[in-house]
Amino acid sequence: MTQKIRTRFAPSPTGMLHIGGARTALFSWLYARRHGGEFVLRIEDTDRQRSTDEATQVILDGLAWLGLDWDGEVIYQSERQSQHIAAVERLLAEGKAYRCYCSKEEVDAMREAQRQAGQKPQYDGRCRHRQQQPDAPYVVRFRSPDTGETVVNDLVLGRVGFPNQELDDLIIMRSDGTPTYNLAVVVDDAEMGITHVIRGSDHLNNTPRQIQLYEALGLPIPQFAHIPLIHGPDGAKMSKRHGAVAITEYREQGYLPEAVVNYLARLGWSHGDEEVFTMAQLVALFDLTQVGASAARFDQRKLDWLNAHHLHHAKAAVLAEDMVARLGLDAAALTPAPEAVAQALQERSKNLLELANNARMFYFDPESYDEKAVKKHFKEGTAALVEAFIAVAEAMPVWQRDALHQAIADICQQHHIGMGKLAQPLRILLAGVPVSPPIDITLELLGKDCCLRRLRRGLSALGTAGA
Ligand code: GLU
Repeated sequence: MTQKIRTRFAPSPTGMLHIGGARTALFSWLYARRHGGEFVLRIEDTDRQRSTDEATQVILDGLAWLGLDWDGEVIYQSERQSQHIAAVERLLAEGKAYRCYCSKEEVDAMREAQRQAGQKPQYDGRCRHRQQQPDAPYVVRFRSPDTGETVVNDLVLGRVGFPNQELDDLIIMRSDGTPTYNLAVVVDDAEMGITHVIRGSDHLNNTPRQIQLYEALGLPIPQFAHIPLIHGPDGAKMSKRHGAVAITEYREQGYLPEAVVNYLARLGWSHGDEEVFTMAQLVALFDLTQVGASAARFDQRKLDWLNAHHLHHAKAAVLAEDMVARLGLDAAALTPAPEAVAQALQERSKNLLELANNARMFYFDPESYDEKAVKKHFKEGTAALVEAFIAVAEAMPVWQRDALHQAIADICQQHHIGMGKLAQPLRILLAGVPVSPPIDITLELLGKDCCLRRLRRGLSALGTAGA
């Protein structure tokens, strides 16, 4: 029987979950889902000083928003300290780790001397044979092998060998008795049965150390996949300036989760030259073998393009829900029906923020009328055209887009003018601006009473009634 795949996402809640972290989570999640495996979430909150509840919340919200569900309860690493300490004690008892009494000054001086001698600064292992000093403060170091090589057979980067000579004796427990990251991560990944550790390539240098710890503890070594980092468009490491904001901010800015997921997947992974994927397609297609080994570049324009694409193809009901929430409205008994409004607007909106803004006119009377637009579209005789439309509209037995279209066309034909000459003024009076979905659809959605009221009110506000 093949082993069930288990991946994990193990963020430290010391900063916001941004694009890079979200992509790591997505790749781990996709790999698990693709293979019918499990995906676990472990919050690595052992640094009590720098971990915040707010950052943890952003991680949980961000993953939920992206649709990256995890199996089982969230695991908090800080609650597992006794297991970490037990592992340190076991290594000590077996002579695979030792107490190091070197002061900071001593280690600094050692490093400085090495630097001056042109050597790589590293701990020289002098406490391996030092006498126990019962009352002196100490850290615990792992006794790493002096010769040979530790090899990471990475699923993305291929074989990466690290000469053991360059891996000095790692601190696995600080002087305050708290275990360090490399020890904790090994104990936790092993205990959680993680088969594939998928993470950013900034962790590659930790991996040989972790492999040595697995070996020393007699634990099965998972497979590793290190995903290349994300760079900004200028090739520099991704930063705030490039849009490296908390992932939840994309929600505020009007991005659809499926667009962000699609974009993140394509940051490093490819499938031929296809760009557009649904979540279901990603689950069916994702593989680590198609993750490139070089850094990906963040491209805001592509993200925006994908967002518009997914918006145009989204279910109107889903868009409507978001739209109502953004406008602070109560969906119950709302007219016009939010779904119909969302449907009318989705083709002409680039993001959810824009869609909500475009929808505002369907629920709120205009507070003012765009001066420039009024100047441009209200000429002599324009008010009379609107009055003529009002007269026809008032008598209409059914308020329906085809009939409304016909009514406008008839009036314009009579006056030998293009339809825009009436449609634009109508838009301005209805919305305050000359922008809306097609005028017949706009009129139908707003309903007869609302249209007549806004048109009359608008004419008198502009002082053109009867002109
Ligand atoms: N907690 C580590 C971080 O956020 C990740 C650990 C890992 O994936 O091994 O960078």
